[in-house]
Amino acid sequence: MSKLLIVGTVAFDAIETPFGKTDKILGGAATYIGLSASTFKVDSAIVSVVGEDFPQEYLQMLEDHNIDISAIEVVQGGKTFFWSGRYHNDLNSRDTLETQLNVLADFQPVVPDAYKDAGIVMLGNLHPLVQLSVLEQMTTAPKLAVLDTMNFWMDNALDDLLKVIEKVDVITINDEEARQLSGEHSLVRAARKIATMGPRYVVIKKGEHGALLFHDEQIFFAPALPLEEVFDPTGAGDTFAGGFTGHLAKTENISFENMKKAVIHASNLASFCVEKFGTERMQKLDKKEIADRLQEFKELTQFEIELT
Ligand code: AMP
Repeated sequence: MSKLLIVGTVAFDAIETPFGKTDKILGGAATYIGLSASTFKVDSAIVSVVGEDFPQEYLQMLEDHNIDISAIEVVQGGKTFFWSGRYHNDLNSRDTLETQLNVLADFQPVVPDAYKDAGIVMLGNLHPLVQLSVLEQMTTAPKLAVLDTMNFWMDNALDDLLKVIEKVDVITINDEEARQLSGEHSLVRAARKIATMGPRYVVIKKGEHGALLFHDEQIFFAPALPLEEVFDPTGAGDTFAGGFTGHLAKTENISFENMKKAVIHASNLASFCVEKFGTERMQKLDKKEIADRLQEFKELTQFEIELT
C-alpha cells in the first residue's frame, strides 16, 4: 500500500439545487477526496487550511475516517474558504455565485514529514502555486502525481496552473474545463492537446455521462451509474479523484489496466456522493453498499458480442 497525500480546500459551501438549498455546510475538494479515498483504508493525510470559524467536529469526523489531519492548519482569527453555487435544472451545469478565498489567500502549505515520501500525491482543487509547493516539498518523487483543477484557476491563475500541469502524471478535469484549457471542442483533441502540456494520462469527467481516460492512443470509457435520483452533484468530481487515487494507492499499481479499474471505482463512489447534499452520503458509506453497487456497475457494462 502506498501513502496518499491530499491537498485541496476544506471549506464551507452553500448549495442550491432544483430540490433545495443549504446554508453553510461542510465542503471542499480535499474533504470529498479524503472521504472517498478512506473507503480503501489507505494511509492518507490532508494538507489544507481553515479558519477559526471551522467546527472542531468536522475535523474530528475526518480523523474518525482515518485521515491524518495534522497538516490542516487552523488560522486563529481567520475565516474558512467559502464557495456557493447554483445548479441548473439538468444538474450537469452550475453557476458559481460566490468564492471567498479567505484564509486560502495567504496559505503556505506544509507537507508533514511522514508524507514527504508518499507514493501517490493528489493535488485537489486549490491555488496552483499551493499545489506546486506541495510537489516541491516531496523528498522522494511520487510514483504518481494527480492534479484536479477548475475553471476558476484557469480564469484567475492560468500561468501558475500551466506550471503545475507540466509536472503531473495525471490530470482529472471536467469536459467544459478541458475545452477551455485546450481551446478544442472535441474531447479527443482536447485530451491530446492537454497531454502535450505535461500529463501522460488525461481523465475527462462528463458528469452523468461518465468519464474518459486517455493515454497515448488508448481510450477507456466508464459510464456513470444511472441513478433514479441525483440530489446534489457537488463534490462528485473530487469524490471521483479520491476513488481513483485511493484504488491506486491501495494496489500500488499504476499501469493503464489498473487505472481503468481505478476509473470504475471512482465512478462508483461518485454515484453515492450525489445522492445527498454535501458530504452527508460519503460520511456514512459502508463496505457492503460499495461492493453491491460495484456489482451493478459490472452488470451494466459487461456484454458478450460475436464479431463476425
Ligand atoms: P466539484 O463539485 O467536484 O467540482 O467540487 C466542489 C467543491 O469544490 C466544493 O465543495 C467547493 O468547496 C470546492 N471549490 C469550489 N470552488 C473552488 C475553488 N476555486 N478552489 C478550490 N475549491 C473550490
